[in-house]
Amino acid sequence: MKNQKKLRIEDLGEFGFIARFSRDFLKRLPAGVTGIGDDCAVIPWKGRKKLLVTTDLLIDGVHFLKERISARDLGYKSLAVNLSDIAAMGGSPRWAFLSIAIPAETEVSWLDEFFRGWRQLAARTGVELLGGDTTKSRAGLVINVAVLGEADGTHIKYRSSARPGDIVAVTDNLGDSEGGLRLILRGEEKSRTKPEGKYLISRHYRPHPHLEEGRFLAGQPEVRAMMDVSDGIDSDLRRIMERSGCGVMVFLEQLPISPALKKCAGRFNWNLEEVAAAGGEDYCLLLTVAPEKFTGLAEKFFRRFGRPLPAIGQITDEKGQLRYFRNGHQVVLEKSGYDHFKHG
Ligand SMILES: [Mg+2]
Repeated sequence: MKNQKKLRIEDLGEFGFIARFSRDFLKRLPAGVTGIGDDCAVIPWKGRKKLLVTTDLLIDGVHFLKERISARDLGYKSLAVNLSDIAAMGGSPRWAFLSIAIPAETEVSWLDEFFRGWRQLAARTGVELLGGDTTKSRAGLVINVAVLGEADGTHIKYRSSARPGDIVAVTDNLGDSEGGLRLILRGEEKSRTKPEGKYLISRHYRPHPHLEEGRFLAGQPEVRAMMDVSDGIDSDLRRIMERSGCGVMVFLEQLPISPALKKCAGRFNWNLEEVAAAGGEDYCLLLTVAPEKFTGLAEKFFRRFGRPLPAIGQITDEKGQLRYFRNGHQVVLEKSGYDHFKHG
């Protein structure tokens, strides 16, 4: 027994962790309640209305670098990533709780700025801060946000309702946030002086939760499954595959990529497909659509939002198979998406 290695959390990975520990809790759920496994928990409320609940943890050195990100951007982003989960359910955010562990030497002006960023987004999206907890941290800044929202229960799109043949689409360009992160990690702060660098870095620090897009898409019966892109489509599509018991084909030449990302990828020799497919934190929406209705939906989306709804792939019946194609030929993508624990 002595030589037998104990299973570690890094062996399980984030998905393995969730699968292992969610089982017992899911078994106990009353009918009509959606628990672990989607972007938000969904709880029956009043009539057709459902209560949505989501929470996220952000830790200095893991999710952000306090010395690099401005306090104002961090305040904004802490709320934004939670609102993105509400958007994925087609909901409207209402109330937030913020718990924060703060190193004693933190300057009050830093916190003033943090709340200024938070308020900017909260005011725009109608979110009220109702409470939370505050404590001293001996190990760096830790931020936990929980957001409650509401949605029409007949419109909510779950990760579990994708069907073979569905078109897979996204509501924005992919990879911008990862591009911004790469610039920041290279110490390319001076890239900010160039418009494309400034754009990518702002996409990383100030993601735009697609709340209006989410509500619009949730109201369309041809949209079947929806989630937000938080870990990159390579990772996030696997969650749809798992929940829906299907596979996916991704057509790499169809991934929507911004001119700014193309420019920086050329300059720094990045693999553009890898950045777009495996880069995280774009916080746009990923959806599957009944194939015969896709063209009509993309037209409606364009009329409403003034930009296309790019199709990037198709759902298949090959359970658990995520396959990439480039101009009709199957290829292997070099890197898969972000998994906490596994890549540290
Ligand atoms: Mg999510």
